Amino acid sequence: MRKKMVEEQIVARGVTDERVLSAMNKVERHNFVPELLWGDAYKDYPLPIGNGQTISQPYMAAIMTEELALESADRVLEIGTGSGYQTAILAEIVKEVYSVERVESLANDTMIKLKEMGYNNIFVKKGDGSKGWKEYSPFDKILVTAGTNHIPEFLFEQLKEGGKIVIPVGDEYTQELTVVTKVNGEMQEKKLFECVFVPLIED
Ligand code: SAH
Repeated sequence: MRKKMVEEQIVARGVTDERVLSAMNKVERHNFVPELLWGDAYKDYPLPIGNGQTISQPYMAAIMTEELALESADRVLEIGTGSGYQTAILAEIVKEVYSVERVESLANDTMIKLKEMGYNNIFVKKGDGSKGWKEYSPFDKILVTAGTNHIPEFLFEQLKEGGKIVIPVGDEYTQELTVVTKVNGEMQEKKLFECVFVPLIED
């Protein structure tokens, strides 16, 4: 089912980065959703994971990962750990992933689950990710998996020169998937397409 998901939902829509495709083939999405929803784990949509939160649609996880243009030596910051599915995909490709989640139970449960799965290059903390994670900055790439109406300035500050942020920017109903690149300390923005994410809640 996972192979079929990758072919029909991800390759068919134009994702070509082999490292992304191989991570999507490897990471078992069913292990990131409640057991009741296992039958839907490889379908073409987001799913609820409790606490009013969702696990992203497989294609969305793939395209966001591809747009980060990851290198194997990268250190990546992720905002919105949620189920940890996207975190695991990043961790298959890069050296280290730092992930911040504001819901304490999700942060704790997901950290334990990812450790049990054998990921030793993932670090999760509970907190407001719009502030970034200063101790481990600067980061090569930053991925935000919750929607916001602006690009948080702390995140841009904690991004290396030449680095990229992939982030859904818009209002609470719909956002545009946006790629921000830091060029000579300035923001260069590229808009991709419309998307819908749960809101980034700043504390
Ligand atoms: N990448 C996740 C998607 C999670 S949905 C997955 O694949 O499962 C977005 C997540 O962002 C939710 O878990 C939500 O609690 C979290 N979130 C919202 N605002 C946040 C903030 N300011 N800092 C950190 N996490 C936040």
